[in-house]
Amino acid sequence: MKLYNTLARKKEEFIPANGNNVSMYVCGITAYDLCHIGHARSSVVFDVLFRYLRFKGYDVTFIRNFTDIDDKIIKRANEVGKDTKEIAEQFIGEFYVDMDKLAVLRADVEPKCTEHIAEMIALTTRLIEKGNAYSTLSGDVYFKVRSFEGYGKLSGRNIDELESGARVRPGDEKLDPLDFALWKNAKPDEPSWESPWGMGRPGWHLECSAMSEKYAPLPLDIHGGGQDLAFPHHENEIAQSEADTGKPFANYWVHNGFVQINSEKMSKSIGNFFTIRDILDKFLPETLRYFLLTMHYRSPLDFSFDALEEAEKGIKRIYSALAQADVELTKSKWKKSPFPEELITELAEIEKHWNEAMEDDMNTAGALGHVFSAIRLAGRVSEDKNLRKSEGGRDLFTRIKADMAAWGTVLGIFECDPVEFLTELRDNRAARAGIDPAKVQGLLDARKEARANKDFEKSDAIRDELAAMNVEVKDTPTGATWDVQ
Ligand SMILES: [Zn+2]
Repeated sequence: MKLYNTLARKKEEFIPANGNNVSMYVCGITAYDLCHIGHARSSVVFDVLFRYLRFKGYDVTFIRNFTDIDDKIIKRANEVGKDTKEIAEQFIGEFYVDMDKLAVLRADVEPKCTEHIAEMIALTTRLIEKGNAYSTLSGDVYFKVRSFEGYGKLSGRNIDELESGARVRPGDEKLDPLDFALWKNAKPDEPSWESPWGMGRPGWHLECSAMSEKYAPLPLDIHGGGQDLAFPHHENEIAQSEADTGKPFANYWVHNGFVQINSEKMSKSIGNFFTIRDILDKFLPETLRYFLLTMHYRSPLDFSFDALEEAEKGIKRIYSALAQADVELTKSKWKKSPFPEELITELAEIEKHWNEAMEDDMNTAGALGHVFSAIRLAGRVSEDKNLRKSEGGRDLFTRIKADMAAWGTVLGIFECDPVEFLTELRDNRAARAGIDPAKVQGLLDARKEARANKDFEKSDAIRDELAAMNVEVKDTPTGATWDVQ
């Protein structure tokens, strides 16, 4: 598999350092608020990478941390009069609610910062001993950026350019404006822990270095996160860990692109901002997950409700095709008529292309394109009255269903029962259109009764009423079904 490595600035063949074992560390959330669409993207992207590596047969150790102490958590705790632990626990709980809905799997290890203070103090102590860090009179500890030669290598920044842009805030006791905090001395009314430098708390960058080292052998195979974390967070992690161990920190650095809202940068202050909850109030979680995978993970993703509605049409087509395949496969008798070999070859090509797309830097957008090729192929067989009844047709439907199941395991979509999903999707669309499914069902029942009584005037009136509600009725051999127009 090829992965784009931010450190190398190119796609590289992915070769784990320890044979079949893969270690993957992804920076998790700072637990002080509900997750937004940017978190959804990053979580889904790395969830698919995790699923795909497992699908390929690797034994993956996936580590995703929770930052449960930080300026933002302290600020939030003070605003609402709770302690920081309560705030962090609350929003870790909310994170799980959202991620479970989005079918994001739990990581193997989900360490919290406050449970690794000892490891962080030990790392800081080693860095001081090695001459890469220093403590100040007031009890802060800083990493001495110029003591680490490779600083800037991940983000491609030159240390002298960084120097000219760096600022020292009043009260800072940094020796150099570039230096960053490993340990912060305790401020009044802030949570703090005992350390060799007095009471204080760790700086944000420190936790990922300390926890990576604890839960995986270094170098990590994959270190991931959103593109916004590459500098300074990941650059600082590299400096801390590599200065400490003298070994590379991670072999492949994988970053997902930004989410934009209506082509603009997402920003709370201009109201250009959506939490996952805001979106799931209107759309099904699987629609959102599907939407997030329709773009390559490194491209910027432009979010809008219109784009989400387009994605909804896509997921509906996929499930409709799966439902149709199930209908075809309920037949009990199959004809031994000849089946065109080229259709089987075509499916084999589609399977190959799906694989190639995923192998090429996890191109989920490309892979979804091949999913549509497979369902179009199934559709062509369904439309041919001879092929659909033949044993060859049965084998093709069965194989496409098996492919879809395997692909669904990797992408984390189309794993539901098709009929149940399509009903759920219809009701979701109905809710957005202000249509009450119970009312529609009542009208359909009344219509059925009117027809049975040959009261066609009444049944026509009911049909008109449904049409005026934007409800489309389809009469099938097993009864009337409906959808939102
Ligand atoms: Zn991190």
